[in-house]
Amino acid sequence: MLPIVPPPAATSFLSERINTMQESQTIAMAKKARALAAQGVDVINLSFGEPDFQTPQYIKDAAKQALDEGYTFYTPVPGYLDLRQAICDKFQRDNKLDYQPNQIVVSTGAKQSLANVVLSLVNPGEEVIVLAPYWVSYEEMVKLAEGVPVPLVGRLENDYKVTAAELEAAITPRTKLIMYSSPCNPTGSVFSREELGEIAAVLARHPQVFALADEIYEYINFVGEHVSLAQFSEIKDQVITVNGFSKGYAMTGWRLGYLAARPEIASACEKMQSQVTSGACSIAQRAGLAALQGGRDSADEMVAAYHRRRDLVLDLLKEVPNLPTPTPSGAFYVFPDVSAYLGRTAPDGLTLATSDDLAMFLLNDAHVATVAGTAFGAPQCLRISTAASDEKLIEACERIKGSLAKL
Ligand code: PMP
Ligand code: GLU
Repeated sequence: MLPIVPPPAATSFLSERINTMQESQTIAMAKKARALAAQGVDVINLSFGEPDFQTPQYIKDAAKQALDEGYTFYTPVPGYLDLRQAICDKFQRDNKLDYQPNQIVVSTGAKQSLANVVLSLVNPGEEVIVLAPYWVSYEEMVKLAEGVPVPLVGRLENDYKVTAAELEAAITPRTKLIMYSSPCNPTGSVFSREELGEIAAVLARHPQVFALADEIYEYINFVGEHVSLAQFSEIKDQVITVNGFSKGYAMTGWRLGYLAARPEIASACEKMQSQVTSGACSIAQRAGLAALQGGRDSADEMVAAYHRRRDLVLDLLKEVPNLPTPTPSGAFYVFPDVSAYLGRTAPDGLTLATSDDLAMFLLNDAHVATVAGTAFGAPQCLRISTAASDEKLIEACERIKGSLAKL
């Protein structure tokens, strides 16, 4: 039945840059799931990392009000000043971090914030240590900047978290940046204060190395304390913190994210953005301001649901043989190790050599969309989103179990 949407062929008149770039595999899998659903197949889509909640009503109301008040013009490139001030207040309130509005740049999603930073810092040939398993877009962003991604894989025994010693051993004279997310997409691991303190000590010994801390899942944390790397004051100027509205406020479609950094880096990102997008949507920015002013109560309700669903899915997956699945501390994914199923033969005679093959098998056979670990630098794993209703999750786990039993 598949592939439905063939990948675009490398075409000689397109740039080498785009011909060698990989499409985001999370988005590609979601596209395949949608195409299958459009053919009438009952697909359960657990591929895309997206809250299944509506944006809270008070935020939608602020957007409607913004339209009525005439917020239809270009905004300042780094974002409205009152929004940047509210982001500074949020950093103060949640993270005990002092930033001024000239250190904040608002963008069309955290994804653009990350790209702005990578493109503003990395020179061709410079190395970027990407703590792995990593979020799908980090590697391609580094390649876009003609940097050299250096994946550094954390061990399963340490919840896939890279240790400070492992990081220090990977730093070379060409290292410019390290990138990570905590809570982590795809593993759900959360760095503790102690672990980040040790990483901060490594960075303090290498003042030429910057760190990009992706904290977009900050609110979706089941262990309690969220620690920002920038809180370690001796390295604060080396850290760029990225955050946004997509996850904590269920605002994926609004495309709104932000970064905080030393003023030179913030200005560089503003310059980049001035040539590429001119900044984030005016109405989304007014909605974002209301979101922050409303605090995090609405997030807390969603987090309780994600927590419950995590436990539900972990319990259901325990019934599947040979599927070691660490317990995520945050975000809304589970990341089982599927090694035991690789190399096995599907009923149609195809050998499932890689987790990509396995994800395609589950899509075709179980009609459950997941994302292969290859997208995240962990080819032995499979990412399953838990941002779906209990009924869907129960049905999906049942189907996965049934399909894997056929191998
Ligand atoms: N970082 C991580 C780790 C993510 O999972 C996502 C979600 N796609 C993003 C960044 C980008 O988020 P946004 O929707 O704000 O662009
Ligand atoms: N963060 C989501 C994910 O990891 C959204 C997809 C994307 O932006 O690539 O699935």
